[in-house]
Amino acid sequence: MSSFQGKVAIITGAGSGIGKGLAEELARRGGQVVISDINSERIEKTAQGIRAAGGQATALRVDVSDYDAVKKMIDDTVAAHGRLDYLFNNAGIAIASPAHAFAIDDWRKILQINLFGVVHGVAVAYPIMVKQGFGHIINTASVEGLAPFPATAGYVTSKYGVVGLSSALRIEGAAHGVKVSAVCPGYVKTAIFTDSKVINIDRQKQLEGLPDWLGVTPEECAKTILCGVEQNQAFIVVSLIAKFLWWLNRISPNLVIWIMSKMYRNALTKGVIQA
Ligand code: NAD
Repeated sequence: MSSFQGKVAIITGAGSGIGKGLAEELARRGGQVVISDINSERIEKTAQGIRAAGGQATALRVDVSDYDAVKKMIDDTVAAHGRLDYLFNNAGIAIASPAHAFAIDDWRKILQINLFGVVHGVAVAYPIMVKQGFGHIINTASVEGLAPFPATAGYVTSKYGVVGLSSALRIEGAAHGVKVSAVCPGYVKTAIFTDSKVINIDRQKQLEGLPDWLGVTPEECAKTILCGVEQNQAFIVVSLIAKFLWWLNRISPNLVIWIMSKMYRNALTKGVIQA
């Protein structure tokens, strides 16, 4: 029997990509999933697909940057099911830009969704899980929360924040029976690369520089994440390239900064990034 059989799981940003893959895989393994997204149409479609395959899903429109909406989603789930086993704080956006062109509204937006979206989930679910004496919070960060990347400083800031929050919370949670993991994928082939805002960047050229073999599908990513959750890994690092970069940044952070500087200057020279 699957370890997720009958378990209650909330997944944010489940209308697309990794969140959708997680929702489908959890439901396939017998989980009762409460799935949410800012996009009503997408989340309904995910739920319909799950139900058509014989799974159980409740779909909600929730903007993770809205604390009250996140609180209602979590409180209602606990009231309906009497427990919360898993919270996947997965919703996120990307905004690619050289830092000098990144406006304060872009900073606010990315931190409000990628960092505060996770903080909101933690602020509501963690005390409930401490009271229960069990539960697992899984926060989606990125390899960009484990190593620095250029032309995406706002995203890197948000994801380092998620890694820091998850690591600190993991220490406290262990004393109360609550598990906490940070998910750090490399390149997952999702809509984030076409939906995201770009500033002073040639998207076409940027995507051409991203070889297909480097990526994994959202379904593969979801399976790796659930394997890491079952093993209670602190950092669930998805894909070999992400694992390599994480390792390299720990043994030689200066080498990673040197490599990334070369990449940034190269992108400026080739016109992928406009100065
Ligand atoms: P995606 O665009 O396919 O899916 C993200 C979903 O989040 C979308 O359905 C979107 O509508 C939803 N969303 C956006 N803003 C929201 C908000 N304010 N409230 C609720 N939902 C919102 O992207 P994805 O690649 O599946 O990304 C999922 C997570 O994985 C993100 O946190 C992202 O940063 C992270 N991540 C992705 C990759 C990758 O290569 N795709 C790599 C590392 C980390």
